[in-house]
Amino acid sequence: MKLKILGSQGALPKRGLYSSSQVLNIKNKYILIDCPEGIQFQLKNYRVKFSKIDFILISHAHGDHYFGLMGLISTYSLLRRTNKLTIFCPKVVSEIINSQMKISSIFLYYDLEIISLNSKDSEKIYESNDFTIVTIPLKHSIYCNGFLISEKNNKRKLNLDLAKKLNINKVYFNKLTKGENVFNEMGREIDFRDVTSKVLNRSYAYCSDTIYFPNIIEKITHIDLLYHESTFLEKDKKKAKLTMHSTAMDAAKIASKAQVSKLLIGHFSSRYENLDLFINEVKQRFQNVELAFDGKEINI
Ligand SMILES: [Zn+2]
Ligand SMILES: [Zn+2]
Repeated sequence: MKLKILGSQGALPKRGLYSSSQVLNIKNKYILIDCPEGIQFQLKNYRVKFSKIDFILISHAHGDHYFGLMGLISTYSLLRRTNKLTIFCPKVVSEIINSQMKISSIFLYYDLEIISLNSKDSEKIYESNDFTIVTIPLKHSIYCNGFLISEKNNKRKLNLDLAKKLNINKVYFNKLTKGENVFNEMGREIDFRDVTSKVLNRSYAYCSDTIYFPNIIEKITHIDLLYHESTFLEKDKKKAKLTMHSTAMDAAKIASKAQVSKLLIGHFSSRYENLDLFINEVKQRFQNVELAFDGKEINI
C-alpha cells in the first residue's frame, strides 16, 4: 500500500498548500480520499494519472472535503474517461452532485456509481478479493465518516529456494500458497507450513474531521497507519471543542490507546506557522508520528 498526501491543511488553504486529500494505491487500485477545491491541480502537481482513480471516498459535506468533486466528475467527461468510477459519500453530497449534473446537463462517457452513506453505524461498503473498505463513524458538527482500508491476502508466501531444494515440482506451487500439502518428486508429503509463510494484511485508517472520539478505538486497534486530524494544539482546545475538531494531543491519545504502528497528523488550522509544535505535543504521548504535508509519500 502506498499513500500520497495531496493536501494537508484544514478549511483555509495556505499559499502552496491545499485542504485535506490523499490518494491510496492498494493492489493496483487507486482510491482518492476526500476531494477539496483544487484537487485537479494537486493530482497534476503530484503526477497522479486522473484515469487511474477507481474510487473516491468523501468523509463529509464540508467544502474543504468535497468542493472539487463536481469539477473532477466533469473533467473526466472532457477527457473521455471510459472506465467505471465509484464514489462513496454522504447522502447529501450525492444529492448535490446529482442536481448539479442535471442543471449542467453533463453527459458522462463513463459509468458513474454514487453510493450514498447515511448509516450511523460502521459498515463494510466495499469488498473485493484484494481489500475491504469499512466506514468509521466520527463525531463532527455534521454527519462524517472515516474509512478503514484493509488488504486481503488469501494466499501464503512461498519460499522458492526451499521449495526447489525439496524437489517440489513447480506445478504444485500454487497449491502450497493456498495452504494445501503436496508430494515432492520422491513421493514425500510436504507440509505447506514448512515452505510457505503467512502474509500480513496491512491496514490504513483515515479519520478526518472529528472531536476526540474514543468510540473509534476498537475499529482501528493495531492497524499499520492511522491518519487522524489535528486541527489545533492543546492550548486552543476550547476552539477545538467548539468547532468539533481534535488537538494534536487528542490524536496522540487515540493512537496510543489503539496501539497503532504509526500516526500521521494533518488538517492543520492555518493559524499555526510552526508545525513542529504539533509533533512535540504528540510525542508527549505517542512516539511514532509524522506530519502530513502536500506531496509526502508513505509506504504502508
Ligand atoms: Zn475539514
Ligand atoms: Zn469538517
